[in-house]
Amino acid sequence: MKELLRINGLKKYFPITSGILSRVSNYVKAVDGIDLAIGRGETVGLVGESGCGKTTLGKTIIKLHEPTGGEIIFEERDITNLSTSGMRPVRKRMQIVFQDPYGSLNPRMKVEDIVSEGLVIHGVSSNAERREAVRETMRTVGLREDALARYPHEFSGGQRQRIAIARAIALRPDFIVCDEPISALDVSVQAQIINLFIELQERFGLTYLFISHDLRVVKHISDRVAVMYLGKIIELAASRELYENPLHPYTKILISSVPVADPTRKREAAVLKGDVPSPIDPPGGCAFHPRCPIAVEKCSREEPALRDAGGGHMVACHLV
Ligand code: SF4
Repeated sequence: MKELLRINGLKKYFPITSGILSRVSNYVKAVDGIDLAIGRGETVGLVGESGCGKTTLGKTIIKLHEPTGGEIIFEERDITNLSTSGMRPVRKRMQIVFQDPYGSLNPRMKVEDIVSEGLVIHGVSSNAERREAVRETMRTVGLREDALARYPHEFSGGQRQRIAIARAIALRPDFIVCDEPISALDVSVQAQIINLFIELQERFGLTYLFISHDLRVVKHISDRVAVMYLGKIIELAASRELYENPLHPYTKILISSVPVADPTRKREAAVLKGDVPSPIDPPGGCAFHPRCPIAVEKCSREEPALRDAGGGHMVACHLV
């Protein structure tokens, strides 16, 4: 699979200011040195508890946040330090679908204006071409053309998410960050939206970074899955391998807590101790050690590197 995107040592720190002079007193290390390559047409799932940095990573990759350090290579081109105008041609090839289809669509804009906004900004077509492109995009996401003259509040959550997806694919991007795109939807429409993402990928050869806290969803849609903890990837493997043979204690606990559909299969659900520590002052050594059920003395001293445990199954744990 040809590589579409690569990040090397990517970091995003948010400064914390204090005092009347607003001096920077510390940083929230939301993304803290991540390496990841994504192939063209691949879906990489990204899982982890809320607050682990998943959304920040997605937004930093497409430069909705400026990176604090590291590199972003898109189609072999370093885009890390591109200016706003330099980013413009790249921007239309990288899109995002947000979690909340209620908050992410401007309530004062008609659907036609929402879906065509990117086409207008990037000046890709004449009025007539643009109108046809919008109609074609609406059909592609399963919405009727008469929706174009209406406003977002007139639609259900699932339909609104289809509008948000139409906006994202109108420019025919290569890469889409899907940031918890079904978690705000009714269970009854979640599968329809997932199937739409899969259909669009097959039709347009899209590449996804699919962020979700729901491990069942990620398993279904992803080729590989990355597990994030406190700003770092701590395990990365092919989807099936990760679910059948998790190696990191954190991943094992996350997977053990996913309900099993087969009532004849019994599984002990392990429970995570405590809350995710603060990314302002993460624990030294392995950041998971205060919660790890098998931690040893070395774990609080030395940070484990992410390394290949065999067949491309990457894990960061001293005991694997
Ligand atoms: Fe647990 Fe130590 Fe492995 Fe971290 S390195 S996951 S604390 S055993």
